[in-house]
Amino acid sequence: MRLVAALGGNALLQRGEKPAASIQRHHVEDAVAQLALVARDNELIVTHGNGPQVGLLAVESANDPLLAEPYPLDVIGAQTQGMIGYWLLQAFKNALPVRPVVALVTQTVVDPADPAFLHPSKFVGLGYEEGEARRLAAAARWTIAQDGPRWRRVVASPDPLVIVESSMIHTLLNDGAIVICAGGGGIPVQRDAHDHLSGVEAVIDKDLASAVIARDVHAEVLLILTDVPGVYREYGSRSQQIIKLATAKELRAMSFSAGSMGPKVEAACRFVEAMGTRAVIGRLDEAQGLLDGTCGTTIVLDAQAPASDASS
Ligand code: ADP
Ligand code: MG
Repeated sequence: MRLVAALGGNALLQRGEKPAASIQRHHVEDAVAQLALVARDNELIVTHGNGPQVGLLAVESANDPLLAEPYPLDVIGAQTQGMIGYWLLQAFKNALPVRPVVALVTQTVVDPADPAFLHPSKFVGLGYEEGEARRLAAAARWTIAQDGPRWRRVVASPDPLVIVESSMIHTLLNDGAIVICAGGGGIPVQRDAHDHLSGVEAVIDKDLASAVIARDVHAEVLLILTDVPGVYREYGSRSQQIIKLATAKELRAMSFSAGSMGPKVEAACRFVEAMGTRAVIGRLDEAQGLLDGTCGTTIVLDAQAPASDASS
């Protein structure tokens, strides 16, 4: 099968953890141990988040005394693709030495008139106590919002429209490579009337970008790998219940948190609506089970007719 696996940024750096390189590399190795299991018999594209990392580099850049102005978010997004891409490349090479693997710097076209620019919603960077977050926000002119018990910076997250390197991803996949791409949802760029590309100050949602790639390469399954066993009804309440199987239509009738589960559900729905196959949301360390359908939340177009790949 042809799979797109989207790796949560929080799986690379858990909430509250120090953002040391060694800690993240360790998480990447654990993630790749899981991904290697599903890579053996399948074609695999790996995308990854960069929320914690992009925010951290933005703080460093803002505090660098040598810089008159901090690096823009597109440039910092590119930095995180290189860094996380490198960790993934090395871990895959160590886990599956004979399998070709490549990490591609990837650009994603957005619409500069996207209303998301007026309503920053994407969490980046670390979580802070409310008072500290407010101080940082005032000094660096951030917008902040509450993420669970902590407060974090939020930035504009426009809809991914086109993956610039899509055909290259397809070619590499056809050559048998594991393709690591669209890190952090891809570097946000705009395209003018003369087809000229330039960077945009935003961070794209990696789940939505993964759905675009999965559609472009005609993937059979979109795996959205995170830190919860699946999508829950009434999440956070005492009566919360995991949803094992749902149609895109059923999920669209429910509502999910904008900064976290919302985009995953939206990405899953967009993919199955476009392709008629399936998407699965669940824990990274259960990747094989998600693929087999024994755990996680499976999203299909029509629950009566099993997804076309279900027997394979
Ligand atoms: P990632 O880094 O993997 O993208 P996110 O933090 O963006 O992770 O999204 C996963 C988080 O979504 C979970 O840790 C959970 O706290 C939160 N969440 C919000 N609503 C739900 C829900 N209905 N079901 C499951 N998890 C939910
Ligand atoms: Mg996320």
